[in-house]
Amino acid sequence: MSDRLVCLGSKGGPALRPGGPWPSSSLLELGGRTIVVDCGLGVTRGLVDAGIGLKALDLIFITHLHSDHMLELGPLLHTAWTAGLAKPVTLFGPPGTGHYWRRFCQAMEFDIEIRIVDEGRPDIRELVSIAEFGEGDIFEQRGLKVSALRVDHPPVTDCFALRFGHDGKSVVFSADTAFFPPLAGFAKNADILVHEAMLEEGIERLVARTGNGVRLREHLLASHSFAEEAGRIATEAAVKRLVLNHLIPADDPAIVEIDWEAAVRKSWAGDLTIARDGLVVNVDGAKAASGEETA
Ligand SMILES: [Zn+2]
Ligand SMILES: [Zn+2]
Repeated sequence: MSDRLVCLGSKGGPALRPGGPWPSSSLLELGGRTIVVDCGLGVTRGLVDAGIGLKALDLIFITHLHSDHMLELGPLLHTAWTAGLAKPVTLFGPPGTGHYWRRFCQAMEFDIEIRIVDEGRPDIRELVSIAEFGEGDIFEQRGLKVSALRVDHPPVTDCFALRFGHDGKSVVFSADTAFFPPLAGFAKNADILVHEAMLEEGIERLVARTGNGVRLREHLLASHSFAEEAGRIATEAAVKRLVLNHLIPADDPAIVEIDWEAAVRKSWAGDLTIARDGLVVNVDGAKAASGEETA
């Protein structure tokens, strides 16, 4: 299995619009492990379209508990269970992840109990183990190492960038964050930095067509990064490739890929990928493979 990153859902925020991209989730295949980073709406469909049998679900990491990053977490695990999941899955998330999972299982109690009795399935509550993490090294197994850095995403305090390393290769996810210089040290020399990004000229139009515009603008400016700022982090970190992800706005017909490129090229001269749903990026730092759209 070659190491690859698949952008399953590439938009920032929870809203869906016809024909538009879907909220945050990514697949990382690294060192023979199947790793899911964030579980926004559409993650299950995205994994299946990327050719992943749900029984193979292995490691799941949630960067923070905003719904655009975890609304489909329970449904993904439950669907993998009904697909025949037999091996334990470890779910890593910030404090509160265990609370969510227990409440999800309670909400699904009728279905879970009936399938255990009627279909002879193992108890899903025993198949999933929860590891709530904070900043620092959070996982090491068979050469795969994962560490977390608390980033700046107010009012959420438990929001973590993640660094995955295996056999000299490394991929870093910024999570949701305002411009946060310590991220450059955390992402130092990574093969890929997946960084969230906003485009300034799209924000005003987005705010205008959204009900609570003023509050939304305040949140975006305080809690997220402009594309140019993502480029500054990538340059400072000297990563091999920058992937702009969690795009805001993501579904404005007036904004196309060259607009993102123009913004990030002010601060980043290296290899660049603008994420879209289903896009595959090889982890050896090589060029992005031709993207397969997931619908
Ligand atoms: Zn988000
Ligand atoms: Zn967020």
